[in-house]
Amino acid sequence: MRIVVYGTRSYDRTFLGAANALHGFELQFIDAPLTLSTVRLAEGFDAVCVFVNDTADRPVMDALAQAGVRIVALRCAGYNNVDLAAAADNGIAVVRVPAYSPHAVAEYTVGLLLSLDRKIHRGWSRTRENNFALDGLVGRNLHGRVVGVIGTGQIGALVARSLHLGFGCDVLASDIVADPALKEIGVRYVDRDVLLREAEIVTLHCPLTPDTHHLINAQVLAAARPGLVIVNTSRGALIDTVALIEALKQRRVGGVALDVYEQEAGVFFDDLSSEIIDDDMLQRLLTFPNVLMTGHQAFLTEEALSAIAQTTLQSLNDFAAGRQLTNRIAVTQ
Ligand code: NAD
Repeated sequence: MRIVVYGTRSYDRTFLGAANALHGFELQFIDAPLTLSTVRLAEGFDAVCVFVNDTADRPVMDALAQAGVRIVALRCAGYNNVDLAAAADNGIAVVRVPAYSPHAVAEYTVGLLLSLDRKIHRGWSRTRENNFALDGLVGRNLHGRVVGVIGTGQIGALVARSLHLGFGCDVLASDIVADPALKEIGVRYVDRDVLLREAEIVTLHCPLTPDTHHLINAQVLAAARPGLVIVNTSRGALIDTVALIEALKQRRVGGVALDVYEQEAGVFFDDLSSEIIDDDMLQRLLTFPNVLMTGHQAFLTEEALSAIAQTTLQSLNDFAAGRQLTNRIAVTQ
């Protein structure tokens, strides 16, 4: 099995390389993302391995099929960047890693919220400059605050539990399927509109779909409680960034912690510290004192990377052996 790994970073090499000791596949690591202009690098390979910001739309799928690729392996859970119908039309199987470590993302979400709300990152940068003043660093307790969790799947459920049981927050939830175990501990399922009106903190853990695209928008922000804190470790386009910037400028939003960003493709995962960045929205977001942004880092733990690598290569091994693919994504999913 010959596999080309797009968008490779040092940690991909390390963890996929280690997991491959069990399989002995031929792995070709490429730094560039999968796009229509890089798809020819897949010529002669059986499989391509991609991540969240690679492009796997219809033209790319058509080109992959022509190149002889028979399977696309996503080394992530979300698959909003993949045209599944185009894959099916081309006879290309698509697999993903549905669960590698929900704890990695859930713990990071709570960490981001704490850092934003208690201004830990700002305190850290002050003390690096021998500035030990506390003015401007007043935060708020999490205990007793109303938190809305949108999407209570693997990650959202852990966040809801942690905030409710660990911190004593009053947790509201919204999902198309309620989790009875969360209800049992006192999490209250409400309509999304109600949640967005009543919550002091909203944390997003649903997938990006037509229904959830821009679920945080101008109307929602106008109707939300003043000082709303928003955390997004799911997918950038759940938030209408233009509306968010406007609400921040009007001082209606209390704080925003983002690990994902609508236009992150082509920016995130690269060191652009010596470059001029064209994206004015991103640059504006980064200037607000109450916005804390990281570059899609929530998944990045040793445990998660190891699980991702093992599951990805196991799926490819199953494919090569003609076995059933447990992590295959069906067109209707
Ligand atoms: P999951 O599939 O276990 O849970 C998603 C939940 O969202 C499900 O309960 C589902 O019913 C619910 N949902 C679907 N449509 C909804 C809607 N319209 N409104 C409300 N809820 C809806 O997924 P997960 O493993 O918990 O991951 C959640 C998201 O986190 C993924 O979709 C992915 O985009 C993101 N993620 C981000 C990172 C990161 O590094 N930042 C890492 C992994 C996953």
